[in-house]
Amino acid sequence: MARNRYDMDEILEDSFDVNQLKRLAGYIAPYKKKMAGVILLMLSSSALTMAIPIFFQNVMDHSIPEKDMKSITFYSIATLLIALYSGISLRIKIKTMSVIGQNIVHDIRYDIFCHLQELPFSYYDDRPHGKIQVRVVNYVNSLSDLLSNGIVNTFTDLCNLIFILMFMFALDVRLTLICLCGLPVLAFVIILIKKKQRRAWQIQSNKQSNLNAYIAESINGIRVTQSFVRENENTGIFNNLSKNYRKSWMRAVMFNFTMGPSVDIISTFTTALIYVLVTNVLLTAVVYTLISTPFAADMTLTVGVLIAFTAYIGRFWAPINTLAGFYNSLLTAISYLERIFETIDEPVGVRDEPDAIPMPEVAGEVKFSHVSFGYEPGQKILEDINFTAKPGETYAIVGPTGAGKSTIVNLISRFYNVDSGKITIDGIDISKVTLHSLRTQMGIMMQDSFIFAGTIMDNIRYGNRSATDEEVIRAAKTVCAHDFIMEMENGYKTQVNERGSRLSAGQRQLISFARALLADPKILILDEATSSIDTETELLLQKGLNELLKGRTSFIIAHRLSTIKNADCILYVDKGDILERGNHDELMEQKGEYYKLYMSQYDFLK
Ligand code: ADP
Repeated sequence: MARNRYDMDEILEDSFDVNQLKRLAGYIAPYKKKMAGVILLMLSSSALTMAIPIFFQNVMDHSIPEKDMKSITFYSIATLLIALYSGISLRIKIKTMSVIGQNIVHDIRYDIFCHLQELPFSYYDDRPHGKIQVRVVNYVNSLSDLLSNGIVNTFTDLCNLIFILMFMFALDVRLTLICLCGLPVLAFVIILIKKKQRRAWQIQSNKQSNLNAYIAESINGIRVTQSFVRENENTGIFNNLSKNYRKSWMRAVMFNFTMGPSVDIISTFTTALIYVLVTNVLLTAVVYTLISTPFAADMTLTVGVLIAFTAYIGRFWAPINTLAGFYNSLLTAISYLERIFETIDEPVGVRDEPDAIPMPEVAGEVKFSHVSFGYEPGQKILEDINFTAKPGETYAIVGPTGAGKSTIVNLISRFYNVDSGKITIDGIDISKVTLHSLRTQMGIMMQDSFIFAGTIMDNIRYGNRSATDEEVIRAAKTVCAHDFIMEMENGYKTQVNERGSRLSAGQRQLISFARALLADPKILILDEATSSIDTETELLLQKGLNELLKGRTSFIIAHRLSTIKNADCILYVDKGDILERGNHDELMEQKGEYYKLYMSQYDFLK
């Protein structure tokens, strides 16, 4: 199977940057008091639970032989109360930590989403959208378990370990030391697999991202797939990506699975060792009573001690098992955190200056003074562009593909900052005002008029949330969208899905015209916005378009010269330079590039 661009993995970081964990700690910080409360609760419960084996020891060694019913009843009731207390604490912990975990996950997801909304178009142009989605949804979800349980469990388990060790040492130092012999073996296993395990999880996250990207694009492009009968090839690519994902997951998870059994084997081995030694000692003690074995010498090793001690061994390895699990989820989470923070750190192309002021309501004079711009450093896409559009004027921008027409209008909306020169609106430099106040005074319509899932009414109202139904209908009527909307089964209440696949391209553009009219911007930008409208609809729309342009400064990029003939000024742009400027009649008289363009289309239309 040929490689496709979905096989392209993201670059893997070699060493783990501790700052990522510090940043994660920043998200945890607001909840630290609640978490501390839960940890205290869990510690109190485990400290109490820890006493139970001692109760058993006392019952076995004293209460039963001495037939002391009072103390048996006391220990039974105390055990019962402790069990009840730890049950209630556990329930409080699960509930509180689930809420905290989900809140943190929400906070991280919220930050990524807000940041994604600010990122320049080029970020989205450069990568499949599915790879972005997987970061916001799947990767963040994967942190949920670590945040809900991992952190609190780790704290409590670490403290538990200390408690248990204290109890074990108090019971019998030598048995405790035998038990601890297993730890270096576990440390050795961890060191052995750590690097490979981390890399395996990084690869797994890459493969997941590739698969997701392909699924997202296949769904978006299903019409093209079916019309070009590409189903089999696509299934092949999917199969390949899915298998790669499965393979990487299996490999990563195998490392995780190494930990649990390792802990089990080591714990079973040490427990068995203790049983062998202790039984030996007890038997020796019975047979030879107090002869010189080191264990029997001080007579501290009773059946009660053995029962209590083995109960502690179980408890000693349980938190180590959970800690090993935490270590696994930490390594998994780190590979996701790398991607999450990489997204949050992606530089925002354009943002408000620290001293940005809100743009006051404008009349709409747009002025370019010696504007130069390139997308990459050192690149010159536009060079020394100068023009002034007075309020209410319509400017048409024409020229060959790649000339820089869209770049000019993108600069007006400040999707990019100019490299030199300045753009002013009513004399105010647009780089000195807030983006929000600038863009709310502009209506921008592009070739691909996006339709959101919802009703037609909602889609038009997107331009002005406070518009009444009547205002929405009036806007639709002005741009000639009303008739086709009324022909739909529920009129304005008809549900359309994302991308508006039930609507024709022309209908989608008419809806976006209505949306722009309702927003009532002072400055209007139409970037190839009429390209999908058929000639019949265009005639119909011409009246609506005139309405739309009335009283607004407008910039129209269109290939159809019929749309721009009435413009107050036409700029003919080529290779980032304005070669000709003037109204239609003036440019026709010049018999230059515009004339040639017009005549070629005119011939074509004849
Ligand atoms: P037009 O609208 O006249 O067809 P554009 O303004 O879209 O032309 O593009 C002008 C030039 O800038 C082209 O050479 C194009 O390849 C380049 N360009 C456009 N967008 C980007 C971008 N996001 N990153 C880098 N180069 C770009």
